[in-house]
Amino acid sequence: MPELERHSFDVLVIGAGGAGLRAAIEAREHGLRTAVLCKSLFGKAHTVMAEGGIAAAMGNANESDNWQVHFRDTMRGGKFLNNWRMAELHAQEAPQRVWELETYGALFDRTKDGRISQRNFGGHEYPRLAHVGDRTGLELIRTLQQKIVSLQQEDFKEFGDYEERLRVFQEFTVTDLVKDGDRIAGAFGYWRESGRFVLFEAPAVILATGGIGKSFKVTSNSWEYTGDGHALAMRAGASLINMEFIQFHPTGMVWPPSVKGILVTESVRGDGGVLRNSDGKRFMFDYIPEVFKDKYADNEEEADRWYTDQANNRRPPELLPRDEVARAINSEVKAGRGSPHGGVFLDVSTRLPAEEIRKRLPSMHHQFKELADVDITAQPMEVGPTCHYVMGGVEVDPDTGSSSVAGLYAAGEVSGGMHGSNRLGGNSLSDLLVFGRRAGAGAAEYVRALGDRPVVSEEIVTEARATALRPFQTEGGENPYTLHMELQQSMNDLVGIIRRAGEMEEALQRLEKLKERAQSLTVEGHQQFNPGWHLALDLRNMLLVSECVAKAALLRTESRGGHTRDDHPAMDAEWRRKLLVCNVDGDGVSVEEKPQIPIRNDLLDLFERTELEKYLTAEELS
Ligand code: FAD
Repeated sequence: MPELERHSFDVLVIGAGGAGLRAAIEAREHGLRTAVLCKSLFGKAHTVMAEGGIAAAMGNANESDNWQVHFRDTMRGGKFLNNWRMAELHAQEAPQRVWELETYGALFDRTKDGRISQRNFGGHEYPRLAHVGDRTGLELIRTLQQKIVSLQQEDFKEFGDYEERLRVFQEFTVTDLVKDGDRIAGAFGYWRESGRFVLFEAPAVILATGGIGKSFKVTSNSWEYTGDGHALAMRAGASLINMEFIQFHPTGMVWPPSVKGILVTESVRGDGGVLRNSDGKRFMFDYIPEVFKDKYADNEEEADRWYTDQANNRRPPELLPRDEVARAINSEVKAGRGSPHGGVFLDVSTRLPAEEIRKRLPSMHHQFKELADVDITAQPMEVGPTCHYVMGGVEVDPDTGSSSVAGLYAAGEVSGGMHGSNRLGGNSLSDLLVFGRRAGAGAAEYVRALGDRPVVSEEIVTEARATALRPFQTEGGENPYTLHMELQQSMNDLVGIIRRAGEMEEALQRLEKLKERAQSLTVEGHQQFNPGWHLALDLRNMLLVSECVAKAALLRTESRGGHTRDDHPAMDAEWRRKLLVCNVDGDGVSVEEKPQIPIRNDLLDLFERTELEKYLTAEELS
């Protein structure tokens, strides 16, 4: 057996998206020796794909905007299930994090008078998304990487070694967290290229691994989103919350089949694009829910006037929160009013001059031209819902990002609570920076206060190695690709955008069988770059996390945000008071109810009582 490669750090950050990089910068700035581990190439995290922008109440486009309005919008978007403290911190700190990015070297688009430009997005009362065309995530990652390089240059000056206090390990997959008793002691994993194992010893680990979309067939997510951080956290003893809430973005590409699910940014609608069915009707006016009636225009004239006069008109219903628009599109297609390839039409060509479309939406223009041979300056796009984001994740302390396991932290999409039952567009990039920074600081403080450092036992390492190698030791077993396809199809069909008890029960039965079959996965070849083996290891995580989603979704007998029950179509105020918590139980998961933390009174006072009556119980209101 080759000798195990070992490294020792103070803080390990798993994930190099916006949350991971911001956390790493913070831990390093606290003087701690920090490592960043990522599955793909450095710079190729999901964050880089973010298009529309980063939400922050800077008040540049409308001076009435402030953190209280942003807080209100976020709570409304999440249908009041959000962790209010997270929503408060997020709304208060997002502007500082955007300005800080500029000090790191970011260049946001500007208004005519030189301020950071902000665009409209669904559910945000004012134009609030700071952006760089439709490539905001790229700028965010570029800037954070640049900051990391500048910190490494400082270390070179001081220690003669660029990597003295901040080192990146790319194309490295973590398969297990390791513990010393109840405390985190590090992480175990393998180099994707050589397949060789590595042990990282560290008293604090920050999970920043993103989401779970690859468990669904139609998704905007890339290959990395296999729920690794969610599963690692659970197996280490932490809890997940809100896992029933999955965001189906209303506008993914539907054609050609090879690109089905790829995202069509909400900026298309924010910049004036409208949704039409096969009769040419702007159907969103028929789908404004009762709770939003006073905020959204009920006729085309008012909706169109809003783009030039927001003070005196209500917003177009195309800019309702994502869950509402996704359900509306689903209903139109089901009613036989869909586009030729099973979506609806999204048209910006008749709304903006061609030159303006190319300037504001360059990636979308390129994406449709290259992938679907559609010129969006002259033709409508065909779009439909796609699995995009998971609201659920590791239950964390809002202020420090710590989980219930000592030394384990989480930030970004892998954490839960901030977005409640539905995330508003743009609120993820700001979430990554606000809570990435907080988790970095939280982990640093934890490490500083430690007496003795945890130790990793050899038994744990042997076990982690044996688990990872198991697929090589089974002959004539299941093919991981077949299992993955069946999992994706089941989740898509039975725990997708519209849910029914019978279908979810069937999904759970299928998951049980898939779990059994996964015990005898077989992979060919050896450890050197072996995608079949990598998928076999990822499947372990996807199956665990999918079980959480299906079990929680079956238990929640109401419809709220990213969880729509055909058999329980209404929102139920009693359910707003409950969180569903997932924990590992044997070789599966158990899901239990837990009371939601009541919202602080001064935050409740930010809302009209008539609005609160739509969400809270009579008891809470009294
Ligand atoms: P990611 O950026 O996904 O990073 C996860 C990291 O974890 C990666 O480096 C990955 O390699 C690593 N990783 C995962 N598992 C392991 C493992 N086992 N071992 C080692 N490393 C691992 N949000 C907005 O606010 N505004 C937008 O305009 C916007 N547009 C979007 C457009 C698209 C197409 C998509 C898909 C999402 C968009 N979002 C947007 C959502 C947002 O981009 C994501 O929620 C966010 O980037 C997640 O960031 P993160 O840091 O949590 O994770």
